[in-house]
Amino acid sequence: MTSTSTTTLSTPRLVIYACGAAFVVLLASIPAFAGSYLTSFVLALMISFVLAQSWDWVNGQMGYLNLGHFAFYGIGAYAFAILLTRGVQIVPCFAAAIFFASLAALLVSLPLFRLKGDYFAFATLAIVPLCELLANNFEGLTKGSEGITLPPDYVLVPAYILAALLVALTLATTLWLMRSRFGYALRAIRNDEQVAEVAGVRLFPYKAATLMLSAAFAGLAGSIQAWQFSYIAPNTMFNLGVALVPIAGALLGGSGLLLGPLFGMVLFSSLEQALLVKMSHLREAVLGVVIILIGRFLPGGLLRAKWISRHDLLSWLSRESHFEIGGHRHATAGERLPLVHREVDTDRIVLECQGATMAFGGNVAVNNVSLKIRQGEIVGLVGPNGSGKTTLFNLISGIYRPRSGRILIEGRDIADFRADEITRLGIGRSYQIPRPFAELTVRENIAIGRTFGASKTKLLESMRTADIFANFVGLGGLLEQKAELLSLQQKKALELARALAAEPKLLLVDEVASGLSTVEIAAFVKHIRDIRDQYGITIIWVEHIFSALSQVVDRLIVLDSGAVIADAPLAEAMRDERVLTTYLGHAAGEAK
Ligand code: ADP
Ligand code: MG
Repeated sequence: MTSTSTTTLSTPRLVIYACGAAFVVLLASIPAFAGSYLTSFVLALMISFVLAQSWDWVNGQMGYLNLGHFAFYGIGAYAFAILLTRGVQIVPCFAAAIFFASLAALLVSLPLFRLKGDYFAFATLAIVPLCELLANNFEGLTKGSEGITLPPDYVLVPAYILAALLVALTLATTLWLMRSRFGYALRAIRNDEQVAEVAGVRLFPYKAATLMLSAAFAGLAGSIQAWQFSYIAPNTMFNLGVALVPIAGALLGGSGLLLGPLFGMVLFSSLEQALLVKMSHLREAVLGVVIILIGRFLPGGLLRAKWISRHDLLSWLSRESHFEIGGHRHATAGERLPLVHREVDTDRIVLECQGATMAFGGNVAVNNVSLKIRQGEIVGLVGPNGSGKTTLFNLISGIYRPRSGRILIEGRDIADFRADEITRLGIGRSYQIPRPFAELTVRENIAIGRTFGASKTKLLESMRTADIFANFVGLGGLLEQKAELLSLQQKKALELARALAAEPKLLLVDEVASGLSTVEIAAFVKHIRDIRDQYGITIIWVEHIFSALSQVVDRLIVLDSGAVIADAPLAEAMRDERVLTTYLGHAAGEAK
């Protein structure tokens, strides 16, 4: 597998680079041989591409649908025009376009990123009309609806060259996003924001930085376009109909793909040029039809069409590029996990809950829970369905805040810690209903856990060593498999690998044995024991299958209706009347 995958990649890679180089040469030479009509058409196309691609960093990579992206283009154009007409040198004018567009992005980030999904998209729809209103009304600065006329220099060729450089920079940035730790933060957010945070991704800075990056490119694109137009007005720079064109282009080509926005925008602009020169008033209708057709027949865009992704050469058009990072190493069986060994010191308290209480409305899910977990212990946490086990895990990992009481990790109160900080303190967890990053591979899932978690390993190194963790949980052969294609048990195994890779001190395992065969359960029990014995990791294991639990736990904590009703060494807990009736009453039968 190792060698075949590298050799089959190398020929098309050459072709791609050759095509890329030819494309750049062709693009750069257009002003030399083409007339000004074609040159300005290609210039407008390049600007649209920059808009489409920078929009797609937020949408295709991070999963936020921003319908207000075009406003940053207008803001850049206005910042540039206002300063240029006041006699400022050209370079600071371009710098101002970048600066004000990203500043605007930072300002809107604060309220916008409190919203999710459709609410976010809907709120962003207001940005372009709002900017148009402002541009119309701040007449002292913008000359209102009259617009700004720039010095009538002939700047088509320099504007063209600048736009071509911006296109190259845009492509390079996309490639960087595909392959960098930063980009993985975005793809984790796109797949499951809450899990991303628990994996250690600090959400807001990534989201704001991405919106600012996309705004900076849009702002520069706007200033180049303003320079070439030599006249701007609110109704062209903040026009909602035009605003949606780059979005439609990116969706047409394939949002999230390396070449999707480029392909879509070229196709879309050429079509528009061919069909709509005389009927530009139909643009919105055509846009709508295009988006409906894509949604109906080609969800994911043209480049994700089956006949393209299955074709030897063409499949390169549909690649996402991030899958091949770190080579294709495969671990040998029994290879030691690259984790530090922690000396077991049972006098150390890893976790302490002091009267922790959590309620959903009137339903008290965790009721005044106090407990201490010592380093190197394996503790079984049991109780009937709905007794608050998962909620307690959610409190410890910072997804919920206790209504009262405290939670201390190695003596530190975590009341003010975000979920990502708690992870970096050394808390790892799995989810009862598995939540791997569905669109990413097994390797990538594990690498994200490793690079953003307490281990803080570099991305490349995390990718290279992911196979050892995958092997450990029995997913060795599935490294390049997308997580969404795994079976339920494989997803649970992946969660364990992702949590382990983060290098936790305390691992919270939420029901992994149900649905496993006896042999698989035995293997799993061995994993839990190895994790503690070989690496000194403390474990709290929530499990219904008592026969599995009883093989390995030192101590049992029993919850009933959110309260601790027993906390004792295994043998002792099993003699407790209350424990036997509330929990072990049915589980003990199963254990036999
Ligand atoms: P367990 O994991 O022990 O089965 P949970 O912690 O999932 O129990 O649930 C404890 C109680 O809290 C249950 O009554 C459950 O319905 C309630 N609960 C859990 N999560 C939520 C939530 N997000 N919203 C409302 N109620 C919840
Ligand atoms: Mg549960």
